[in-house]
Amino acid sequence: MDVAGVLCGRPAARALEEIARFHGAPAPGVVIGAVMVDWARELIGPEVEADAIAETERCLPDAVQLFTPCTLGNGWLRVLDWDRFALTLYDRFDRRGVRVWLDAGKTSGYPAIHDWFLKRLPKHALPLDTLLNSIFEAGRAVLSARPVHVNALLRRSKKEAVGICPGCGEAFDPRAGDLCKGCLNGGYFTWG
Ligand SMILES: [Zn+2]
Repeated sequence: MDVAGVLCGRPAARALEEIARFHGAPAPGVVIGAVMVDWARELIGPEVEADAIAETERCLPDAVQLFTPCTLGNGWLRVLDWDRFALTLYDRFDRRGVRVWLDAGKTSGYPAIHDWFLKRLPKHALPLDTLLNSIFEAGRAVLSARPVHVNALLRRSKKEAVGICPGCGEAFDPRAGDLCKGCLNGGYFTWG
């Protein structure tokens, strides 16, 4: 598809290619996520070293990882499984930041985005090109943003000590308790 403009500091067409390569497909959620990151980044200002919080596990974390220095692995991105299509970029030192979200009320002027976001139509009834065109046409018009102050609850904690779990014999963070979280929770596997 033919997209014009600039998104996250590169031509929008290139941003779309990067999304497709990283995510496996040019998913609408990651494309909207890129528009959200772009706006949040602009609002917080270029001088701020920002940490990120994504409030859904779907799509949004990939936009953050692609278009900011924040990744799951470096600890600058926290992902909450709250299933809200919202993200916050905030100054890691004073915890002031900006929250940007896809605003359901504002999508009504963009039927394709509205139907996709609220799952009003089955996936096959919404051609990807139609949806992506609508996302590029809408830009920030379907988003809302507000300043926030991130509370201490979400600060990443540093690993201070390492213990050996008496249950499995593997290294773990002893703040989990007497046993590692895998042993405490029963784990997700049985040995094959
Ligand atoms: Zn264990």
